[in-house]
Amino acid sequence: MGNANHKRLVIPGPVEVREEILQAQTQWMIGHRSTAFADLYGRIHSKLQTAFQTQNRVIMLGASGTGLWEGASRNCIRDDKKALHLVGGAFSERWAEISKANGKQIDVITVEWGQAHTAEMVADALQKESYDAVCVVHNETSTGVTNPIAAIGEVVKPYEDTLFLVDTVSGFLGAELRVDAWGIDFALTSSQKAFALPPGLAVASVSEKVLARAKQIPYRGYYFDLIEIAKVGDKNNTPSTPPISIMFAADKQLDDIMTEGVENRWARHLAMRQTTHEWADSRGFGVFADRPYASPTVTTVDNRVKNIDVDAMAKFMSGKNFSMDKGYGKIKGTTFRIAHMGDMQPETLDEVLTGLDEFIGA
Ligand SMILES: *Cc1c(COP(=O)(O)O)cnc(C)c1O
Repeated sequence: MGNANHKRLVIPGPVEVREEILQAQTQWMIGHRSTAFADLYGRIHSKLQTAFQTQNRVIMLGASGTGLWEGASRNCIRDDKKALHLVGGAFSERWAEISKANGKQIDVITVEWGQAHTAEMVADALQKESYDAVCVVHNETSTGVTNPIAAIGEVVKPYEDTLFLVDTVSGFLGAELRVDAWGIDFALTSSQKAFALPPGLAVASVSEKVLARAKQIPYRGYYFDLIEIAKVGDKNNTPSTPPISIMFAADKQLDDIMTEGVENRWARHLAMRQTTHEWADSRGFGVFADRPYASPTVTTVDNRVKNIDVDAMAKFMSGKNFSMDKGYGKIKGTTFRIAHMGDMQPETLDEVLTGLDEFIGA
C-alpha cells in the first residue's frame, strides 16, 4: 500500500490503523449466516471477553459508539424511573442528551471540565434517590480525564436495582478496565479509538442484569434491542448484517493485542502519558486534566499560558505528515490534545514531540 502523503493520525479518533490491519479487511466477503461467519464471531467474542476482563456476554454490531449510548439508555432505564448521569465534558454531556432525547428522566452530577467524578459524589446521590442506572464515561476524550471507575463501581454495587453503565469508547484497550472486578453491567465502546481499528464496529459487554432490566421495558427500540441481539449472539450471529470486513480486521487486531498482552498494552499507554506530561511540563504548557485523573490515552495540553497558534501548529505538523488535534468544544484552542492511544509506539510519540519542539522553537 504505502502512501508517502499519508498523514499519521495523532487525533483521538479515528486513530492510526496499521497497514496489516487495513489489509485484513480485504479478505473475500462471506455471508453472515455462514459457518465461516459464526467461527469468526466466536473467535472475536472470546478474545473480547479477555479484553473486557469479563465472563459476561459481549455484543458486536455495525454502529459507532453513539449507537450504543442510545441502546444503553433505552434498554436500561425504565420510563417511570431515573438515571444518574455523571457529566464533565463533551461526551458525557452528549450521553445525557441522548437519554433525554429518548424520553428518559435523568439527574446529572456536573463537574468542571478537567475534573473527575468521585465515588463520594455518587454515594451521596444514591443515598438520596433511587436510580435505574448510573451512567459514566470512563475516559472523557474532550478533557483527557479518566474517571475512577473501580471506586464508583464499589459504591454502586450494593444497589441491586441500579445498573452501572460505562462508556469506555476512548479507554478500552488503552486504560485499565476490569468489567467483572469493577461490577460494570454495560461497558460500551467502538472500534476507532484505542482499539485501533477503522470505524464502524460497536462492541459492549452485557451483564444478565441488563437483560433482565431490558425485559421490563416494552419499547426499547429495534436496532439496539439487547434481548434480540443477545439471543442471536448466542448463535454467534447478529440480527442484521454486520460490518464483516471490520470484523476480519478485529480478529487479527485482537490476536496481536493478545500477543502484546492487555496489561502490557495498558502499561505502554501509561508510559506514553508520562512522556507527554514531561514534555508538556518542561515546555511551559502543563496539563489541563486534574493530574491524578489524567488519561493514559489522550493528553489535553493546557495552552492558556503559552498560547501557541494551534492552527499554525497543525499546519506545521501536517508538513511532517502528522494530523494533529486543535482542542475540542469550548476548550478548543485554549487546549490541544495529543492522542497517544491504540497501536502508537513510544518512538512515534517521540517523533511527534520533536516536531512540536521544532514548531515552538524549543
Ligand atoms: C468518540 C467518543 C464517543 C463517540 O463514539 P463514536 O464511535 O464516534 O460514536 C463517545 N464517547 C467517548 C468518550 C468518545 O471518545
